[in-house]
Amino acid sequence: MPDHGNVQQNTASVEQRVDAIEAVMQDRGMEPKVFIDQFKHLAEEDWVPQNGARVVAKAWTDPEFKKRLLANGRAAVTELGLSMPAHHRHLVVLENKPELQNVIVCTLCSCTAFSIIGLPPDWYKDLEYRARVVRQSRTVLKEMGLDLPPSVDIRVWDTTANTRYMVLPVQPSHTIGWSEEKLAEIVTKDSMIGVAHL
Ligand code: FE
Repeated sequence: MPDHGNVQQNTASVEQRVDAIEAVMQDRGMEPKVFIDQFKHLAEEDWVPQNGARVVAKAWTDPEFKKRLLANGRAAVTELGLSMPAHHRHLVVLENKPELQNVIVCTLCSCTAFSIIGLPPDWYKDLEYRARVVRQSRTVLKEMGLDLPPSVDIRVWDTTANTRYMVLPVQPSHTIGWSEEKLAEIVTKDSMIGVAHL
């Protein structure tokens, strides 16, 4: 048998390597399966954009809360029973105005305030979005379905590991007077990233 055949035969499959790593962890009292299950639960049940939607609806209906939110996002979201991982040291809330559109990106990787606005969509992690939204923001937003007139300024904010952002969208005029619960239902993850209006 040629040499490369031996090499192939001697290389463990991905499954075998995963099993080996899990076995080593279990030998040392670590439980990867428990961790993965816990993480899956957090990602699917706890880190959901409905959290941020509640924050936005509260800010729209409670001016004093909005002031606290804009002053210190991390402290304000705790009023709604929400929390952020310790390494998300700051939550900066960016208020959109009719003439100002704030947009979030992580040019390095994929950081978001995921415990508040949900895990990042695939396109947010894409190199194309990360590179182009900085240089061609108006074009990229238009391609994503948000066609802003030239009179609207666009500000792009680059996330770091320490500082996470969320966009506070403009409340649609037809929703003035709605209850907080009803308002929370219309707020989307994309609007809190700043690539969509409501
Ligand atoms: Fe990142």
